[in-house]
Amino acid sequence: MPPQRKTNTPSGLGTKMLPIKDAILLLQEPKVIFITTHHKPDGDAIGSMLGLALYLRKKGHTVYPVSPCSIPDFLEWMPGVNTMLDYEGQTKESTEALKKADLIFCVDFNDYSRTKHLEQPLADATQPKILIDHHLFPKPYWNYGVSIPEKSSTCEMVYDFINLAGDNSVIDADIAACLYTGVLTDTGSFKFPITSSAVHLMAADLISKGLNHTRIHEEVYESWSESRMKFLGYVLIEKMEVFHKYSSALITLSRKDMNLFNVQNGDTEGLVNYPLSISGIKFATLITERNDEVKMSFRSKGEFDVSNFARLYFDGGGHFNASGGRSKTSLTDTVAYFKKILSELHPK
Ligand code: 5GP
Ligand code: MN
Repeated sequence: MPPQRKTNTPSGLGTKMLPIKDAILLLQEPKVIFITTHHKPDGDAIGSMLGLALYLRKKGHTVYPVSPCSIPDFLEWMPGVNTMLDYEGQTKESTEALKKADLIFCVDFNDYSRTKHLEQPLADATQPKILIDHHLFPKPYWNYGVSIPEKSSTCEMVYDFINLAGDNSVIDADIAACLYTGVLTDTGSFKFPITSSAVHLMAADLISKGLNHTRIHEEVYESWSESRMKFLGYVLIEKMEVFHKYSSALITLSRKDMNLFNVQNGDTEGLVNYPLSISGIKFATLITERNDEVKMSFRSKGEFDVSNFARLYFDGGGHFNASGGRSKTSLTDTVAYFKKILSELHPK
């Protein structure tokens, strides 16, 4: 059976979330703070979580940044990474941290289900919850927060939050490195249309605080293993299908493909972007077979709304030009279903 079609009804509109500036009042006294982000975290998720954690520690708070799972190798260098817990690997410590916390910050996601195993603990937690996020359609869970889809990244929003609190001078080179990383990865290295002048002004300010942007670029984009590079070659030659008449391309990866090259956590990062470098290709999809589900990544250039596409057909969401979703059917059935949709939608 193909994945169920969902209606396009935004949920969470009309929520009573109090403005983020009100949350600053909660931070007048030292607090115990739990921060988390989405499962399979990317540069913006870990950058915003650690950037916020380092800032709050400098303000005298006790902070527990908790990733729902382990993080990709290209983020292992980040300042504060050694103080982070991994919920899947350190469930007991993470659960204790959540119990001890006075406040909970949720960054770079707006629906508990995006945290996978943390979904229920977050839903059960009674402490005030604060959202900082830039995805569409926030769920109505948060007591305080800010949700702005027009922002380049959650890292930009954490930077705005620190400035709103009057603490620009607290930003040091470590906080700058964390915040810059999320901006770098979520804007495609300052390329996507969402990269406003405010983003460049922020980068300029971070450089003035001692940021080494060249080193960060190297850590994030030039730290590949030899097998990852060979895997990329294999994927582009063997696993990419280009549908010029639909201005689209598809990469399909089975578990067997991943085993061939001993693919590591994070090695598939960015693969979905490659087809968009082909002239005329405006919609790229990566379908990856995982143990418990089939994961989809969508990217587009221009006017094709992949957030809506992911929500309608693959139980997902995200941004206008970058989204993701999932399918509970087999890899083969998912690919067949995807191709059927493509032929019906006929993207141009
Ligand atoms: P990626 O393809 O890198 O996994 O995800 C791209 C974007 O889509 C990210 O902003 C991510 O937060 C969002 N996204 C990915 N998977 C899902 C999903 O299953 N549900 C929702 N709502 N958003 C997703
Ligand atoms: Mn983000």
